[in-house]
Amino acid sequence: MSDLTVRFWGTRGSIPTPGRQTKKYGGNTTCLEIRHEDTLLVFDAGSGIRELGMSWLDEFAQKPIDASVVFTHLHWDHIQGFPFFSCAYMPQNAFTIWGEERESTGVEQLLSGQMTGDYFPIELSAMQAKLSFKTIEGPFGIGKMKVTPFPLPHPGGSLGYRVEADGAVFVLATDSEFDQIALNKDELANDHYASRQYPAEVTDFLAGANLIAIDTQYTDSIYPQRVGWGHNSIATVVDLCNQVKPDMVAMCHHDPQSTDQMVSNMSADAANRLKCDGSDTVIFAAREGMTVKAHSPKPPLALN
Ligand SMILES: [Zn+2]
Ligand SMILES: [Zn+2]
Repeated sequence: MSDLTVRFWGTRGSIPTPGRQTKKYGGNTTCLEIRHEDTLLVFDAGSGIRELGMSWLDEFAQKPIDASVVFTHLHWDHIQGFPFFSCAYMPQNAFTIWGEERESTGVEQLLSGQMTGDYFPIELSAMQAKLSFKTIEGPFGIGKMKVTPFPLPHPGGSLGYRVEADGAVFVLATDSEFDQIALNKDELANDHYASRQYPAEVTDFLAGANLIAIDTQYTDSIYPQRVGWGHNSIATVVDLCNQVKPDMVAMCHHDPQSTDQMVSNMSADAANRLKCDGSDTVIFAAREGMTVKAHSPKPPLALN
């Protein structure tokens, strides 16, 4: 049996939302840590990466850290924590940073853009860790993990990732609005609850996952006012679960307007619908600090 350990350091979408109303699920923006054996992989550097960095300082102390940071896209809520990633300022550490090129601008230039004088007091060059920047052009390997990118429907584009190691499969599909690429998009515009039909490449990307972390920002009542903003509704995620039958699904990229109570209601709603549909998929709302193992074969449920 093998597993990928997934830890959520930031589950909020769009902007950090600290405060009493978001204490349970957390207010930090997107950051996930994936571990397989000794290999460390981080997806996105939203404000959650600050706490990830502090936790690594505790764990590794002066021991060198060698890790990869992979970006889904460079919207601000996915990069804003990077200047506060303390491990990147320590010379003994090494980070390989993966991202897409945008109009022939590489990820290094795009990341340093938010660390120039008008926006931030310290430049990217102040980071003393060894930073190697890589452009994503297709599947790549990190340790024993095979990482396959997939273009997601999102304004400006975003990448989803399928991570596979020794049979365990984790899929990250944050910042996605799958209704935009449904084959029956027009029907959905009139009937939000119509059954969604997707191109095979979408269902193939999600198929056989032990764990999927997927953007579920909107309730079905809010979504019609947010069409084209780049995020899914509950109905879309439930429909996808029914079609691809993952073991577990973590709803993430919580709306900044959603209080803890609202997020809890959304996950209960999704779980009830799946139960009514006879699905075995376990669905829950990701919260900051939560660790979930994507196992192969399917394990007893383990949430911490
Ligand atoms: Zn986002
Ligand atoms: Zn985005």
